[in-house]
Amino acid sequence: MEKIKMTTPLVEMDGDEMTRIIWKMVKEELLYPFVELKTEYYDLGLKHRDETDDQVTIDAAHANMKYGVSVKCATITPNAARLKEYDLKELYKSPNGTIRAILDGTVFREPILVKGINPVVSKWKKPITIARHAYGDVYKNTEMRVDGPGKAELVFTAEDGTVTRQTIFDFKGPGVVQGMHNLDSSIESFARSCFTYALSVKKDLWFATKDTISKIYDGEFKSIFERIYEEEFKASFEEAGITYFYTLIDDVVARLMKSEGGFVLALKNYDGDVQSDMLSSAFGSLAMMTSVLVSPHGYFEYEAAHGTVQRHYYKYLEGEVTSTNSVATIFAWTGALRKRGELDGNTELCEFADKLEQATIETIESGKMTGDLVLITELKNPKKLSTIEFILEIRKTLERIMSE
Ligand code: NAP
Ligand code: MG
Repeated sequence: MEKIKMTTPLVEMDGDEMTRIIWKMVKEELLYPFVELKTEYYDLGLKHRDETDDQVTIDAAHANMKYGVSVKCATITPNAARLKEYDLKELYKSPNGTIRAILDGTVFREPILVKGINPVVSKWKKPITIARHAYGDVYKNTEMRVDGPGKAELVFTAEDGTVTRQTIFDFKGPGVVQGMHNLDSSIESFARSCFTYALSVKKDLWFATKDTISKIYDGEFKSIFERIYEEEFKASFEEAGITYFYTLIDDVVARLMKSEGGFVLALKNYDGDVQSDMLSSAFGSLAMMTSVLVSPHGYFEYEAAHGTVQRHYYKYLEGEVTSTNSVATIFAWTGALRKRGELDGNTELCEFADKLEQATIETIESGKMTGDLVLITELKNPKKLSTIEFILEIRKTLERIMSE
């Protein structure tokens, strides 16, 4: 069989621990035999980040802007324990945070559905993709405790010295008070990323806030989305046959429980925090969740939603057999390869991505899976495979599909 050719390289960001082991296995068993893989490689493993004073993360993000599409392995976000373990020069920021800040992007998380691992909500037939605004609100708040009677005010001093003030509350006794903010520029980027992503996957976009209560603050989110939709995306949405739908956050929660899934749900920072954990546990497992960072300028970065699976890595180092799920990592690669194929007009590459996903899903549906899925599947007599055995089974299925 002739290998599939690529024209533009993918930006490849390697990572840490068990996912770094899986990364290599996936490339060797599922990609190299079928694709003449072209990548520009950046090693974001913690050791190399430390050696380069984290410059490698910045370089990788810039390469992502140059080529458009990247695929990233999970990476350690250093804490005090890691500082000691890796003898680091300093506590580097989360690579995902650094990359997101450079690309100005929004993260979209989507569950991978297979028969036999059923969502808790039985009506859900298609994945619900969630996009969380990652700036401001309560995450950048200023808050204080009030010990007794007094007046709390919002005061804004303009650059020219003009002061605007409003009473928050006349306290008669002790209580609490908080102030928060957001930026038009950040909300606009968020909106553009959401519309761009929905178009790229041809799915309806839902957006929700609580603008009936928060008329100015949440009202601003609503009107920015509305304006950007009308001015920049309406025509393409209509052409793609998808819709943009705005509703209240409480209405969204009720509707999504009764829906079949299959749409993109954009939410403010706090709503997204809460709803994404609800959705990922309702769909089954973090190991079956993919993640893509989409910038408002149309750059894409694909990864798994889970971390480096440290506990399994330590077992692996001890020589123990592990059963770590590689599905989200495989789907990070297929997502990136398909997007690269779309941008380059490389149909063969897109078809390969589809087939690798199909092979992964068929393997699980035939009862062969890793330990985490064995615990939650409704299939009878599932077979628990080791990390590498599972990947080799997918390879067998893929070889069959490729030769059909
Ligand atoms: P984690 O790596 O997601 O793992 C937490 C637990 O979830 C694992 O111990 C395992 O449970 C289960 N799990 C997650 N992925 C799995 C998979 N593919 N297959 C089977 N089980 C899986 O989170 P963590 O242990 O909290 O974090 C480890 C490191 O990852 C940290 O240094 C953190 O900074 C980093 N992290 C990176 C990213 C990223 O790069 N995007 C995201 C999150 C965390 P059992 O042990 O019970 O089997
Ligand atoms: Mg959370």
